[in-house]
Amino acid sequence: MNFTVSQKKKNYKVNPLEMAQQQLETAAKIIHLDEGILQKLKYPKRTLIVSVPIKMDNGKIRVFRGYRVQHNLDRGPGKGGIRYHPDVDLDEITALAMWMTWKCAVVNIPYGGAKGGVVCDPQKLSEQELERITRRYISEIGLIIGPEKDIPAPDINTNPKTMAWVMDTFSMNVGYSVPGVVTGKPLSLGGSRGRTEATGRGVVYITQKACEFYNIDIEKSSIVIQGFGNVGYNAARIFYELGYKIVAVSDVHGGIYNPDGLNIPEVYSYSQKKGTVVGYKPAKNISNKELLELKCDILIPAAIEGQITQQNAPRIKSKIVVEAANGPTTPQADKILARKGIKVVPDILANAGGVVVSYFEWVQSLQAYFWKEKDVQERLKEVMENAFNEVVEVMKHYKVDMRTAAMILAVSRVAEATKLRGLYP
Ligand code: GLU
Repeated sequence: MNFTVSQKKKNYKVNPLEMAQQQLETAAKIIHLDEGILQKLKYPKRTLIVSVPIKMDNGKIRVFRGYRVQHNLDRGPGKGGIRYHPDVDLDEITALAMWMTWKCAVVNIPYGGAKGGVVCDPQKLSEQELERITRRYISEIGLIIGPEKDIPAPDINTNPKTMAWVMDTFSMNVGYSVPGVVTGKPLSLGGSRGRTEATGRGVVYITQKACEFYNIDIEKSSIVIQGFGNVGYNAARIFYELGYKIVAVSDVHGGIYNPDGLNIPEVYSYSQKKGTVVGYKPAKNISNKELLELKCDILIPAAIEGQITQQNAPRIKSKIVVEAANGPTTPQADKILARKGIKVVPDILANAGGVVVSYFEWVQSLQAYFWKEKDVQERLKEVMENAFNEVVEVMKHYKVDMRTAAMILAVSRVAEATKLRGLYP
């Protein structure tokens, strides 16, 4: 097959698609996956590349590049977020779409995997420009999205406001309101209670289960979180509300460290005012590099891919790594961490809370019947804990690490659906 992974970009230490494919191959080997099915799963089902021309505030036209990748749709419609970031490229979006396939399968919700993105720097765009980008991008990918086809959601630099534009644009194009086309919407447009904090809340549930499994006393643990966006912040806030100790957090500008624990609500209001956590007192400023290498019990990368690599893995000092971001640990780093006895709780399990509540939102939108926050939280907990228990069973059966077990469970579920459906025509 003539589908090659493109050249590594400048400053890009790892290619996420190569990472995702290596993880798939590791699991495939153990379960003796049929070679034809492996080839099918290594590449996306469908890729759409679009130009997104918009009129900038200064009246000039600028063209952005957008992608929507559907990796696999055998278990249901595509599901996955939309990312706005200057480093977005096709390999990254393809890897993220593949991880969505595994994520939905591991928590057993009836979706395939998809992802979208626009190459842009939201920090340098006005709200009106972002709205025009969103509306044109959604019109361009409108051909392949829809409640039964592929359902976008928030990801890095997109939020409920963006999802409202997505819902409106799609609805205007078809001529009636279609709330089921997107999740992560504001409540007043058919969003679900508990969706915004869902990924962070899921990370907390899975961290609690992992600590219990690995005999780590979470009450006495120090937690370090890289990233203070939607996922990192909400995980930090919920840990803090439960009385756990977060000693360091960071954002793109840098990190802060206080071995006695940070007051997360205070850090949050500081960062809202200053645009960064850097400079918050009482804490010491540290770099993101230093943050990852701090001595702590629980390390939670909640930013972007490729943060724990073969370069820094030898200096990681936590007992466990809980992957709240997608793809933060490279396969080479995985091996180094394993040799050091550091346990990794994989992204496709740890950060699945977001897509689980997206699934709840989609169900609510389709039925036009909405649940209480308590019900959302209880059902999220149940889905996450069941998935964790199932992954542990696979770990014991195959005597493998948690990532490999989660991949085996996910790949087996997808492969079974693929085989049962057979090939068309
Ligand atoms: N962007 C999130 C993720 O990576 C959520 C996707 C969704 O809710 O569809 O899991």
